[in-house]
Amino acid sequence: MNRIPDAVVDMYEQLPVPFGLVRFGVAPDHPEVKKCQEKFEEVAASPRFNFVGNVNIGHDIPLKQLVPHYDAVLFSYGASYDKKLGVPGEDLEGVYSARAFVGWYNGLPEFADLNPKLDAGEEAVIIGQGNVSLDVARILLCDLGELRKTDIAEHAASALAKSRVKSVKIVGRRGPWQAAFSNKEARELFNLPGAHFAPLDESFFPGEADAKALSRPQQRLLKMFKSPAKTPAEVAAKNWTFKFLLSPTSFNASSTDPTSLSSVTFTKNAFDPPTSVFAKDASVVATPESEVLPASVAFRSVGYKSAKLPEMSDIGVPFNDRRGVIPNDGRGRVVDPDSGPGELTAMHLPGLYCAGWVKNGPTGVIATTMDDAFATADTIVQDWAQQAKFIDGDAGGWDALRDEAKRRGLRTVSWEDWKKIDGTERAKGKELGKERAKFVNKEDMLKVLDA
Ligand code: NAP
Repeated sequence: MNRIPDAVVDMYEQLPVPFGLVRFGVAPDHPEVKKCQEKFEEVAASPRFNFVGNVNIGHDIPLKQLVPHYDAVLFSYGASYDKKLGVPGEDLEGVYSARAFVGWYNGLPEFADLNPKLDAGEEAVIIGQGNVSLDVARILLCDLGELRKTDIAEHAASALAKSRVKSVKIVGRRGPWQAAFSNKEARELFNLPGAHFAPLDESFFPGEADAKALSRPQQRLLKMFKSPAKTPAEVAAKNWTFKFLLSPTSFNASSTDPTSLSSVTFTKNAFDPPTSVFAKDASVVATPESEVLPASVAFRSVGYKSAKLPEMSDIGVPFNDRRGVIPNDGRGRVVDPDSGPGELTAMHLPGLYCAGWVKNGPTGVIATTMDDAFATADTIVQDWAQQAKFIDGDAGGWDALRDEAKRRGLRTVSWEDWKKIDGTERAKGKELGKERAKFVNKEDMLKVLDA
């Protein structure tokens, strides 16, 4: 908006509240990460920006009705699916996707009724070793006193207060030197008060020569693994550890209650070749051996995937279903993958752009995604300056669609409306001694506006 004079930006959001991943994905005990909302507030203050909340594009308003009212359309939605493991028992009660659990404790309406069985037993197993798995582990292990003061959903704080989970195992199919989590997040877990880290099997530690070959981040991780436990086992209320070289093969029901989880069976893996233990991109193969870990609750945390919007293909927007991304030239221009030898040189579809996880897949931290959004914005500015071809529409924008939205009976939410919801959440939070008490269903959010 700053760089294209008179440009107007309309932002459509399916929920009545903004901030997407920052509100519903970032862990409640990471308030510093949510500071990027300030940048958003700055942009939203412009009279040339419209927030159009509570409109699900592709459902409430079809894409083919929206696109002709704009010069450019930017797809910047995230990943609304999680990858499944495809093993027996995955749908048993007590087995949850990390996406659902994270959404639940963050008050995402879709998962408000998840009610995870945290009081069924003491053993939790998390499958996958990315940063999401560490978020899940921290929430299960951390001191509720501090967590209650954050914007964690009230239902989650109450359920965590009754949680019996005492032991958390974070399980990877490869080894410690291939884990996807970052050191910063691992350090937080190692430093968690009251939680004892059960030491690793020393066979994973390199000898002197191999240790020298580790990258700097790997060396810092090694130091964390080898440091004496911050909380000794005798005084710890809870304990946690990493398990490596295990791939899940089944989630097993309890013999007394066939609908509930009691354990997870894993195949033991081996490095292939055996010498690749310390290589970041090492591969593993299954061995004939297996291991069973007791679990009253288990979380699948093996990555996310973006989904195609309804009718995308009807209006000529391509989608790579396998990767869950919109084909693009790496700089945010949506391209027709069938038009050239590779995406980088394929034909740009005029006026169509993408940013974030739907452009790159579910990788990187919030700052990476912000930088990526700025890069796509730069591309749009550059194309505009060079008078590239844009959508051949009426450029009427939201003003042209407003009547259609009314005709369809949609209750849209403006930025001013959101500020009312925001104010009510903050006020309710103050009464409860926390930063904010989030509404966890759309009806309650909208009731604030109709009061
Ligand atoms: P991720 O980083 O891609 O990690 C996925 C994990 O699942 C990896 O350990 C992967 O192992 C494992 N996995 C995948 N398929 C598997 C299978 N079939 N069986 C067993 N294990 C499997 O994904 P994520 O944790 O969902 O995170 C998504 C993105 O959000 C990441 O970029 C992450 O950094 C970011 N994030 C950041 C923060 C933060 O900054 N605090 C918090 C949350 C998320 P392999 O390596 O062997 O494939």
